[in-house]
Amino acid sequence: MSLITKAPRGTLDKLPNEIHKYQTVETSARQIAEVYGFKEIRTPVFEHTELFKRSVGDTTDIVQKEMYTFDDKKGRSLTLKPEGTAGAARSAIENGLFNDALPLKLYYFTNCYRYEAPQSGRYREFSQFGVEVFGADKPACDVQLLALASDLFKKLGISKYTLEINSIGCPECRKTYQDALKKYYSQFKQTLCGDCHERLERNPMRLLDCKNPNCSEYKTAAPLILEYNCETCADYFNNVKQYLTALEISYIVNPKIVRGLDYYTNTVFEFISPTGLVFGGGGRYNGLIEELGGNPMTGAGFALGIERVISVMEGENAQFNEPNTPDIYIAGLGEEAMLFALQLSHKLCKNGVSAQTDLTGRSVKAQMRYADKIGAKFSMVIGDNELQTGKAMLKNMITKEAEEIDINNFDYKR
Ligand code: ATP
Ligand code: MG
Repeated sequence: MSLITKAPRGTLDKLPNEIHKYQTVETSARQIAEVYGFKEIRTPVFEHTELFKRSVGDTTDIVQKEMYTFDDKKGRSLTLKPEGTAGAARSAIENGLFNDALPLKLYYFTNCYRYEAPQSGRYREFSQFGVEVFGADKPACDVQLLALASDLFKKLGISKYTLEINSIGCPECRKTYQDALKKYYSQFKQTLCGDCHERLERNPMRLLDCKNPNCSEYKTAAPLILEYNCETCADYFNNVKQYLTALEISYIVNPKIVRGLDYYTNTVFEFISPTGLVFGGGGRYNGLIEELGGNPMTGAGFALGIERVISVMEGENAQFNEPNTPDIYIAGLGEEAMLFALQLSHKLCKNGVSAQTDLTGRSVKAQMRYADKIGAKFSMVIGDNELQTGKAMLKNMITKEAEEIDINNFDYKR
């Protein structure tokens, strides 16, 4: 096939016959985020490359291997956003959003771009729904984020998932942990993969994220970060767990979750389907805003991969909002009748009734076949006779019942 008619590898066309699935997730996510007091933010699809290097982290797979980076015509290095938090954080700093009422609660829908090996559930362009809270540093904030997620999953019919949580502590206690981890992995230095050699030097926690089967075996006996949490961090995590129980949100503690991004502190979590698909994750990132040059400002949030959420819904046979089908098809026979049909369809559409009519000049029989194909709920045929009498038969396309209506005073109230 020619390149012109083939989408780039790892991208996904979201076709009209499945778009209602995306709309179902988007509508519910937007509604629940608004109920929880979040406001939408839309930031550019590309940012200065430096932003992601700084916020996502120089040593992450995302920055090292997965970014779509290019120079623009003036030689500026730009990158298509691989995730949503960095752009939201950058925009909040630049636009002084932290000067307004705090906590600042933001949500976003965005496409993300990562140069990864495409496979089921892993694309080079995918979409995320995310929420961020800035300026709230209590466990109640982390728990409210998880409550929002839990409400959303319930609304979407996702019930068989696991929320896994962990605490990766603060920069101080993490330092002790990283030393312990480094010591542990150094024993296996000879057999670690090339990437892990670098991780050992530059960012030992990333060792736990290695997907190489040999390296990931060492994870089993690796020291656990929870055991290195200082007293303040341990108290914080205990509160998170207590509040989750109080809100009847089930969770399990997985001391091995470290998350792929550099900016996390304290709470980290992931949502995992029964088949092991991680369809969302997040946590607290108190250091991010300062790292980007803003005044110190705490933050927490999560992002869901919308394509993965849909596949989890499909796995549970969850209901999607019905795709839209036309309310009525108005067929016309003859020029005068066709014009009348066009006028009537216009009048109905103005009132929010989806009324379709012929745009091709085909026969009434062909028009009715089309009405059937597009799933019109009702139909009527207007010809000379109907124009003269002002009456037509309104046919229910499912039951095939018909009733006579007045075509000059027809307002489709069913
Ligand atoms: P993974 O371990 O699967 O690579 P990740 O840790 O890189 O995931 P995050 O950066 O936390 O993922 O992104 C949040 C969510 O975005 C993920 O839970 C997932 O649902 C989705 N996601 C991430 N990468 C992709 C991708 N390449 N294709 C589709 N969805 C993705
Ligand atoms: Mg990844």
